[in-house]
Amino acid sequence: MSRPKFVAGNWKMHGSLPANLSLLSAVKAKAAGLKAQIAVCVPYPYLAQAQSVLAGSNVAWGAQDLSEHAQGAYTGEVSGSMLHDFGCRYVIIGHSERRSYYGDTDAVVAAKYAAALKAGLTPILCVGETLAEREADITAQVVTRQLDAVIAASGVESLAKAVVAYEPVWAIGTGKTATPAQAQDVHALIRARVAAAGREVAAGLQILYGGSVKPGNAKELFGQPDIDGGLIGGASLVADDFIGICAAG
Ligand code: PEP
Repeated sequence: MSRPKFVAGNWKMHGSLPANLSLLSAVKAKAAGLKAQIAVCVPYPYLAQAQSVLAGSNVAWGAQDLSEHAQGAYTGEVSGSMLHDFGCRYVIIGHSERRSYYGDTDAVVAAKYAAALKAGLTPILCVGETLAEREADITAQVVTRQLDAVIAASGVESLAKAVVAYEPVWAIGTGKTATPAQAQDVHALIRARVAAAGREVAAGLQILYGGSVKPGNAKELFGQPDIDGGLIGGASLVADDFIGICAAG
């Protein structure tokens, strides 16, 4: 099955109203006519701005996290239906920064993933090993455990409405990109794991690679049989770099 390429930007905690306006406007203008599906995941306060600039374009927008709860006394949290109100199509779930700094365990990630689907959002589920885990040769176990937590809670069929991003933690924001072969190995493993429970879902599943993707390495990464695009951090903050990556898709 041929899967469309998808490139999503993760702005993390960067931006300001004037800077975003020029970045969003440039991305919108340069993305017109590109083949890849494109999205930007912005900080919560800028969702309204993303919606107003990007509406009607071929660039979708989304958030970087959400609450596992639908509503209630959860000070500081943001629900899936609130994201939906601002036209979000996507939400990143289980980014390694959430897992390591904010205590998002596999169980919390699974609950957030379910909440995103319930709100009609497409979760971009992040999985990936730390450097210590890679060196201990347990990458496959770690990624499988992270994936299985979601499959156990929401079922393999749920992945028909989701995207998976393989992000080796040691490659995020470090300038150390996984080699295309290293990334392909883990992507193939993810697809095989999903296929064991649901062959058709696995064939259609978009699996993105994230970790120091740049315009110069995107084409080779995206050329691997199981790499269906990228989740882009630093390079998504520079319009020409982000678009250069999108154009490789
Ligand atoms: C990310 O934030 O998910 C990421 C992959 O960052 P970077 O592209 O900067 O490594």
